[in-house]
Amino acid sequence: MTSLPLIPVDPDARGRRPALPPRHLADLDLPGRQALVAELGEPAFRAKQVSNHYFGRLVRDPALMTDLPATARERLAGTLLPTLLTPVRELACDDGATRKALWRLHDGSLVESVLMGYPDRVTVCISSQAGCGMACPFCATGQAGLTRNLSTAEIVDQAVYLAGVAASGVVAGSPPRLSHVVFMGMGEPLANYSRVVAAIRRLVAPAPEGLGLSQRHITVSTVGLVPAIRRLASEDLSVTLALSLHAPDDELRDELVPVNQRWKVSEVLDAAWDYATTTGRRVSIEYAMIKDVNDQPWRADLLGRLLAGKLAHVNLIPLNPTPGSRWDASPKPVEREFVRRLRDAGVSTTVRDTRGREIDGACGQLAAAEDRDTEAPGEERRDRA
Ligand code: SF4
Repeated sequence: MTSLPLIPVDPDARGRRPALPPRHLADLDLPGRQALVAELGEPAFRAKQVSNHYFGRLVRDPALMTDLPATARERLAGTLLPTLLTPVRELACDDGATRKALWRLHDGSLVESVLMGYPDRVTVCISSQAGCGMACPFCATGQAGLTRNLSTAEIVDQAVYLAGVAASGVVAGSPPRLSHVVFMGMGEPLANYSRVVAAIRRLVAPAPEGLGLSQRHITVSTVGLVPAIRRLASEDLSVTLALSLHAPDDELRDELVPVNQRWKVSEVLDAAWDYATTTGRRVSIEYAMIKDVNDQPWRADLLGRLLAGKLAHVNLIPLNPTPGSRWDASPKPVEREFVRRLRDAGVSTTVRDTRGREIDGACGQLAAAEDRDTEAPGEERRDRA
């Protein structure tokens, strides 16, 4: 959930019936791809070949698939690899280490992804929905509403495309191989549950079935859809859960994260702790620092009491204000005091160093942010709100 992407959903796309994108090999597991290839009258092993080009070599141009018969390349690629994402704009900042991509989908919807290069890793932040229905008031995406869920392949293709960008070597000073994926672009991932889980399975399956990433390097964020958190815990996946909390008390969280009116702080945290127990994975608690709204010392103390002794880590995120918004980032001294109180309570805490702020349209609220934690060097994360 949450990025606070500032790029609005295409107004022309709003109000239309969501139209399904064309089927793509990333929508299917390998047997499904083989069945599709068989329908074309081709031997089943062609599915593996095309999959290996897409996931293994990051190649999607049929002319480069020279192990396929020339007569079948266009047909196989046209069927298995239809174009899902059309680049509209690519923006770079941080000396090229942060690159934001804006895509147009087949129905005109716009979504964004962000590639972030670091000396030891490459992370992409991907969107799971066009728009978002969660209506968080400090988030431009939330104000625009939900256009539609992305398909599994539309989600996966963002990562595969940007893995190809990283492999091309344009992100100087970073390894060429994509290592981390965070579901923190547009949308609430757990509101598009089945496609997001299928996308995770593609991302972690070894090539040619998938991209071969480590489950531990995948983070799914949520505003706190309790039944979906519990369902995710039962999936036999060990991805990191990032809970966008933003307030420790129901009175304020009801306003900042409206879904809290359905599932209260205590219920959401119970689900998060059960997730941590089941998976053994530390939960990230995301907390956007909003001036004079949620940054009071007493809220730091309350948050500390809620989290003390739990398998949790707090990511404090300096709010990236939307132009014209009444929401602003907390002053640094206030932020430092918040951190001090949490750490005094024994809670591991990071202040995220936002990336990409000078990119016009920005990477969403927190769309390109990364932890910088003196307590936990090397810990990776980023979030949306
Ligand atoms: S901050 Fe809220 S409204 Fe914005 S993308 Fe995340 S869940 Fe949706």
